[in-house]
Order: sequence, then structure tokens, then C-alpha cells
Amino acid sequence: MLGLMQDYPLLVHTILDHGALNHGEREMVTLGVEGEIRRTTIADVRRRSLRVARALEKEGIRQGDRIATMAWNTERHVEAWFGIMGHGAICHTLNPRLFAEQLDYIVNHAEDRIVFVDTTFVPIMEALKERFPTVEKYIVMTDSEHMPATALPNAVAFEDWIDGVDEDYEWAKLDENTAAALCYTSGTTGNPKGVLYSHRSNVLHGLMVNQPDVFGLRSEDSILAIVPMFHANAWALTFAVPAAGAKLVMPGAGMDGESIYQLLDSEKVSSTAAVPTVWLGLLQYLEQTGKKLPHLNKVVVGGAACPPMMIRKFELDYDVEVIHGWGMTEMSPVGTTGKMKHATSTQDRESQLKLKEKQGRTPFLVEMKIVDDDGNDLPRDGKTSGHLLVKGPCVSSGYFKLDEDVLTGDGWFNTGDIANIDPLGFMQITDRDKDVIKSGGEWISSIEVENVAVGCPGVGEAAVIGLPHPKWSERPLLIIVREPGSDVGEQEILTFLDGKIAKWWMPDDVVFVEEIPHTATGKIQKMELREQFSDFEFSSPA
Ligand code: AMP
Repeated sequence: MLGLMQDYPLLVHTILDHGALNHGEREMVTLGVEGEIRRTTIADVRRRSLRVARALEKEGIRQGDRIATMAWNTERHVEAWFGIMGHGAICHTLNPRLFAEQLDYIVNHAEDRIVFVDTTFVPIMEALKERFPTVEKYIVMTDSEHMPATALPNAVAFEDWIDGVDEDYEWAKLDENTAAALCYTSGTTGNPKGVLYSHRSNVLHGLMVNQPDVFGLRSEDSILAIVPMFHANAWALTFAVPAAGAKLVMPGAGMDGESIYQLLDSEKVSSTAAVPTVWLGLLQYLEQTGKKLPHLNKVVVGGAACPPMMIRKFELDYDVEVIHGWGMTEMSPVGTTGKMKHATSTQDRESQLKLKEKQGRTPFLVEMKIVDDDGNDLPRDGKTSGHLLVKGPCVSSGYFKLDEDVLTGDGWFNTGDIANIDPLGFMQITDRDKDVIKSGGEWISSIEVENVAVGCPGVGEAAVIGLPHPKWSERPLLIIVREPGSDVGEQEILTFLDGKIAKWWMPDDVVFVEEIPHTATGKIQKMELREQFSDFEFSSPA
């Protein structure tokens, strides 16, 4: 027997309808890429999103078409998101930090028809435009006054494009499982893979992160969303903040300590979220200037392990609660948060600070377990480490246009992380199975660097591992076995790599060894190498 409740699909644009109707006056504030502060309200953002949807309709965009954005966190980007999704098209966020070959692959794989692009990123698109036969139009996210002269075909300023367009558009009527957004992840080897979110998963995820023990956003809050909308959905803040009726503050391109501090201060920000590298910049700025954080209650740190010193500085020096989070693009992205719980409330401060170093526990709607190499469940004893598997309504079941099974037989997704889980449910990442390095919140593929490095004359074998780094979380170390008789040196190898990989992928150091350890099947044993070089210090760590 079925229940007798209304069939009310979970659609992303209903978040904006709710926000506009009940918190319409609530502000969205952007530090624009031209350096100015722009203020709008949820109600206005909804009106302009409807105009975006109408303008897309006029362009002949149909449900399911992919529309890309390459943009900072700004109110125009939010309007583009809701307009695209509310029209039933798929909002495809492009990460400007990817290099040309990856962007080439991604835009063509997605077959994007229109690209929304911030002025900052116009040169990236101009350099690639010939390689994008499916892209019909570029909408530059600015007004006519700031519109750059550009060689992009059919380029128009965002403000001109929606100028005079009718806002009496009715959101598309969709099944809640309709695809809403697409985000490619390069967190594994091979070509980037498209994670395809649905309206339902986005709405559920927005609600999930609003639970009190996750981000716990309230209508009184002012939220600075530093985590980019182009990488893992700004950790759902674009949905969660209007759903809560909170104020949304966005930094545009201003990611340095001073810009972040000014927004925290002027907008009386109560909660904010970013990767550790950004927080390091803010903490350095605070130390240099002696400034404090009187309005800030909560800082969410994730995307890479939060260093213990960062937890202590925020909590002890600035009286700001640290919520250490973990997740991944395939999880929409939030998987765990380290908010204290009833059973830990009686612990002394020192034990709680220690516990915050772990990646946290799952909220309702995420299931998590660890297994051994044969897939057998491992105990939650806080000691045994295993492959971390997850399940839930906001976890991927496959990748866009890729016909491969990504789930285990009983429906679990393997995160590629190695972790333990303690009896209270707190998970701790202990290693990584996937062959990648996370630097400043973005991925470096170790295998790709190795493949280029072995092409250097005199190099016999190459292995790249990520080692902890004070500023970037991790940086690559290149380990080389020379060919017999060769005396190839560090500089020759780095010169060889130069121009063949992205600049920020360049190894920070090169070391030479007699032998690299292998598994029985001939794979390089990265975990053993990381262990072997655990005391290694980069020659220039700053
Ligand atoms: P992405 O899909 O780019 O968001 O990357 C997800 C991956 O980043 C995870 O599978 C982890 O390997 C890593 N990661 C995310 N958050 C943390 C964290 N708090 N501590 C350690 N690693 C993390």
C-alpha cells in the first residue's frame, strides 16, 4: 500500500522560490571581479534567474542540454546556476585551474552549447575556442561597461543578454531525478569523469548540510562561501544558504587573507568554509596585523586534511569553532563533519581538539564503512584501517556517458581513501589508494607526471608521491631510478618536464634511488614510498 502524501518533486529551483518568498529581503553580497562590492537580495536573484531561464529558452536550449560556467563565486554565477537548472538544462561547472588538455576533453565530452565565463577567464576560453565545436555562444559575466574586447564567437555581456528579457517564466516541470548539474573530477587516473547530480540529490544535499551537526545554518547567519562553485558545488552552500534564508557572501576572485578578512569583517560573517590553504593565508594576515575575528563563530575546513595547528589557532586564539569536513565530488560533496557529539561533550578541551583532527562522522543520509582488500567489513575500533566505502542518495552511481560499474555488488561506492572509524563514528583518513596528490585543494595526477618523466633521457623509472606541505597541504616529490650508466640530474629532469605538465604540477624536489618498491603485479607501492619518505623535507617549503 502506498502512502497518501503529495507527489512533490524535490527540484532545485523550489529552494529559490522558498528563499525569495520567505526571506526575499535577505542579501547576497559579492566582491566582484572588478573589485567592487555588489549587493542584491534573494528575491532579486530569483527574478534574474527566471530571466536567465527565459533567455536560454530563446536561445533554443532544451532540457538536458549542457550549459557550462567558468566563474568565481558571484551572484551572477548563482543566477546562472538556478536559471540553467530551473530551465531543465544541466549546469556544467568548469574548473579554471584545470589545464588546456583537460578542459578540451571535458567541454567536448559534455558537448556544452553555451559557456558562461567570468572576465578573468576569457583568455583561457579564447585560447581554446577553436577546439570547442559544440559551443555556440559565450556569455561574459559582466555588464557592457566592463565587457572586454574578445575574440570569442557570439560573445555577449551577461547584463545585456538578460536586459529586457521577461521574468514571467515558469520553472520547468521536471521529474525530481532529472539531471541538474555536471562536475568533472580529475581525482583519479585517466580522463576526468563527469559526476551528474540530480535535482533530488542537490535538494537533499542542501537539506543534509543544514542539519545542526553538519553546517547548521540558520536564517540569522551570514555565510561566506569561499569554496568554489566550480569545485564540488561550493559544498552545497549555493543551495543550503537560500534554503535557510541566510545571507550569502561571495568572494569572487578575492582568495587572499586580506580580502577574506575584509569580507568577514564588513559582512559580519558568522560561518564560512574553505580548504586549508585559504585559511593559512587568513591566519597569516591576522598574525601580521593583530586583527581578530569578533563576528565569526564557525569555520568549516575540508577538501584536504586540516592541520592540527590550524584547529588550535582558530579555536584557542580566535575563539572560532572548527568543523573539519571530508567528502568528494562524487558525494555532492559532503561526507562527514567533525562536530562534537553528546558522548564527547564531557571530554576535556585537549581531547576534543585532538578529535577534531579526525575527518568526522556521517550525518543522516550518508552511510560509510571500511573493508579489507577482499571486501570484508572491518571493525569500528579506531585502529583498523581499510578501504572507505560510502552509500546514500547524494552519492554517484556512475559517471556521465561512461559505461562502467562504479559500485560494489551491494551498492557501495569506493572513495579511494583509506581510513579507520572509531566506536563513536569518527572517521580518520590514514592514506589514499588513488594515485593522486591534492595541492591547494586541486588534484595533480602522479601517474601523468611519471609518464612524462620516464620520457626524459637517462631516466629508468619514475614515481611521484604527495608529501605533506605547510602551505599547499601536499606537494609532489619525484623519485627517480636512473638508467644504468646515466648521471641525469634534477635540473635536466625539471627542464624536460617544463611545458609538458602544468606549472603547478612541477615536483618540488627530485630524489634519486637505486630501486622503487613494487607489488607482485608490478604496480609501484605508493604507500610504502610515502612511508619511506615520511621524514623528507622539501628544500624550499614556503
Ligand atoms: P574532490 O572530489 O576533489 O573534492 O576530492 C575528494 C578527496 O579529497 C577525498 O577522497 C580525499 O582524498 C580528499 N579529502 C577531502 N577532504 C579531506 C580531508 N578533510 N582530509 C583528508 N583528505 C580529504
